[in-house]
Amino acid sequence: MLKLIGGAAGAALIALTGTAMAQTPPPFATRKVDGTDNVYIFRYMNAQSMFVVTPAGVIATDPIGLARPQAVTIYLGEIRKITQAPIRYLIYSHHHFDHIAGGKPFKDAGATVVAHRRAKERLVAMNNPDVVIPDEVIEDSRTISLGGTTLELQYVGPSHSDNSIVMRLPKEKILFAVDFIPVGSVPGRGMIDFYPAQNDEALKRVLAMDWERLIPGHPGPGGRLGTKEDVRNLLAFFQDASATVKEAAMAGKCWDGVEKEVRLPKYESWPGYQQNLPFVLTRYCAYWGRGF
Ligand SMILES: [Zn+2]
Repeated sequence: MLKLIGGAAGAALIALTGTAMAQTPPPFATRKVDGTDNVYIFRYMNAQSMFVVTPAGVIATDPIGLARPQAVTIYLGEIRKITQAPIRYLIYSHHHFDHIAGGKPFKDAGATVVAHRRAKERLVAMNNPDVVIPDEVIEDSRTISLGGTTLELQYVGPSHSDNSIVMRLPKEKILFAVDFIPVGSVPGRGMIDFYPAQNDEALKRVLAMDWERLIPGHPGPGGRLGTKEDVRNLLAFFQDASATVKEAAMAGKCWDGVEKEVRLPKYESWPGYQQNLPFVLTRYCAYWGRGF
């Protein structure tokens, strides 16, 4: 009898532990992207970056170290478990601090910091002590060739921020895009710095590029990578949100009416819908209802 209770309690404990582990992933993880020789994703909490390892050196992206310098030293340590090759580049996806603060250890390791011209202008103006100012800037595009790997940096116009770039590995057909293409979820606070008039064109430019898998700056559901279908769905979401809020704005419902009444039920199964929809509605209200 005692043994039976113990067995049942033991089974329950295992079940509980299993559940807790499933809900709380380890704070960071590094994984090689399936089917590639040298493309990795470093995740720390809920942000992630791509890095590429070549015999001639490493191309790293976003240090993701805002208010957590340990994320950056762990990121470098994870790279060092794979290679002792020099860190040649640190490329910023855009100027938002949650992705690019804390890059000093990469700079100290010898990296050349690259970003869009306007990202550098904004960072210089804000002069945040935790942000390394880019050494080099791009305007429309730049191709980096290092140790047999080609990485294309492409500006696709204002979208999420006015300086977001995408990074494309043509051989691997992989795209790294941060914040402006959330994989299968509704965008949230990032909508504060969002360009409604130009965003859809930026997404169409991304769709026209040759790639198959998208690494997002925040892990997709279950850690999955994105597809062109995700981009098409996101474009449809923005177009629906924009058209719906435009109509409400013309009826004089910005701000309160829209924020209280407008829903987009077609997308309510997307992660973040309840929490993030207000940010989307408010941003389009600002555009259609107030002109900014
Ligand atoms: Zn951002």
